[in-house]
Amino acid sequence: MVHVGIGYDVHALVEGRKLILGGVDIPHPKGLEGHSDADVLMHAICDAVLGALGEADIGHFFPNTDPRWKGAPSCLFLNEAARLVEFRAGNIVNVDASVIAQAPKLFPHIHQMKINIAAALRLNIQRVGIKATTSEHLGFAGREEGIAAMAVASVDLSQAG
Ligand code: MG
Repeated sequence: MVHVGIGYDVHALVEGRKLILGGVDIPHPKGLEGHSDADVLMHAICDAVLGALGEADIGHFFPNTDPRWKGAPSCLFLNEAARLVEFRAGNIVNVDASVIAQAPKLFPHIHQMKINIAAALRLNIQRVGIKATTSEHLGFAGREEGIAAMAVASVDLSQAG
């Protein structure tokens, strides 16, 4: 049986932080605020994978009060989600995500994001979809106050006991 999961995350854009999306350090005057590296894209994908397993969300596994995760690269969270899939004898079929950001232009970085996410989940890159869109200057993303990401994951649990 193939299970699907959904993930959604938002982080605020602030000065004095790096902008890390899909594990790529993207040149921009502002970055995302958060306890870890605040990689909103990896967080949404992590929640989608956890959701497909019926597990609790990323904040349950990696609380933002835990000093171990301060400044942590979010690929660690995807590594752990992939480990949970393997523990359940599952296989991630695919993940797909959209980043909602008014700026900067993300298209030049999409391929590297796919490489990083595929590596973190131990997947073939063809199983990773990443898109970027603006919100046409509407809402918090449109005002460049933050960046949002949404994701889905499908996990084959037919081998699960
Ligand atoms: Mg987050």
